Amino acid sequence: MRNYSAQNPLLLTPGPVMVCDEVLDELSKPVIPHRSKEFSEILKRVYSNLKYVFQTKNDIFIFPSSGTGAMCGALENLINPRDKVLSLVCGVFGNRWTEIAKNRNAEVHIIEVPYGKTITADIAEDFLAKNKDTKIVTLTHCETSTGALNNIKSICSVIKKYGAISVVDGVSSVGSCECKQDEWGIDVLVSASQKGLGCPPGLGFLSANNRAWDLYKQCQTPSYYFNWDYYKKSVENNSVPCTPAISLIHALDRALDIIKKEGIGNLTARRENYSQTLYHGLTDLGLEPLTLEPDTSPAVVAVKSEKSEEIREVMKKDFHIILAGGQSDLYSKIFRIGTLGDITEDDIDYTLNCLAKILKKI
Ligand code: PMP
Repeated sequence: MRNYSAQNPLLLTPGPVMVCDEVLDELSKPVIPHRSKEFSEILKRVYSNLKYVFQTKNDIFIFPSSGTGAMCGALENLINPRDKVLSLVCGVFGNRWTEIAKNRNAEVHIIEVPYGKTITADIAEDFLAKNKDTKIVTLTHCETSTGALNNIKSICSVIKKYGAISVVDGVSSVGSCECKQDEWGIDVLVSASQKGLGCPPGLGFLSANNRAWDLYKQCQTPSYYFNWDYYKKSVENNSVPCTPAISLIHALDRALDIIKKEGIGNLTARRENYSQTLYHGLTDLGLEPLTLEPDTSPAVVAVKSEKSEEIREVMKKDFHIILAGGQSDLYSKIFRIGTLGDITEDDIDYTLNCLAKILKKI
């Protein structure tokens, strides 16, 4: 069991996450020029290993941005004004898709389920059957704000049936939950470095299939900075369009190597085990998860509590464990525990034990 302190706390937020020393050490490597042969070799390996993690044959673009940047890199290259977009919302991050689509002057239709619930394929089918001119459907795989995991596979198959393009937020699911882009027919999948991949924040990822590329070609004003053509040409040359976050890419290279060694299936199974231990440990303590089984995500468990802020404060002060609070309308109504990054089963047990002590006290 590791020792945690105020300077070295146990970070259990669902991103950013605990980053292992091997990955952190990469950040202190000397900066090398991004147009060098050496960097190109690194990029070649990173592009290939990202495909392994995303489980896709598509090229994967690396943006010097957070996850929201990658979300912009998706919709800003696909939407023309007045295009019909369906936004399936079950939490804060579903709403982010809505805002980005509105910003591109799309005709956005929002279907929102109560926070803590998931979106079902029936919900998508009901809308798409009546709105066959829908171009894009946005959705969130793991809704980090509630701990809900949507059944992307079944929803994407309905979206494809009606000829729309699925644009999926995999920011907290890629590398932490089973997520098979090609097999599940996800047209555009975006993610970020600071969650399932166990890296520091600062990189966004985007992977688009041929169906999405056909729609991209119809976009009259594609993004300049996140332009898919520039990125594709660069990936083909094991390069990047502009100066990348070189040190973060060193870290990503190492993190992907570690994931490959463990195996993506083993990694997601390990997260699933952590989340199961946590979920049942929390209910044994008399706490009520916001999202109930079987809709819970392996990446994060959200817990209902009117004392969430007090619990978070004491967890930090007395035990050096950092938990996340609720966002937006859920602020001070829930706290969230992430199961991502460089943590072990012992860390989950320790967290449950500390929570038990706190619950007795308050
Ligand atoms: N989508 C999801 C599901 C997320 O969890 C987050 C980050 N919490 C985002 C999008 C936004 O990512 P970022 O903060 O990296 O821009």
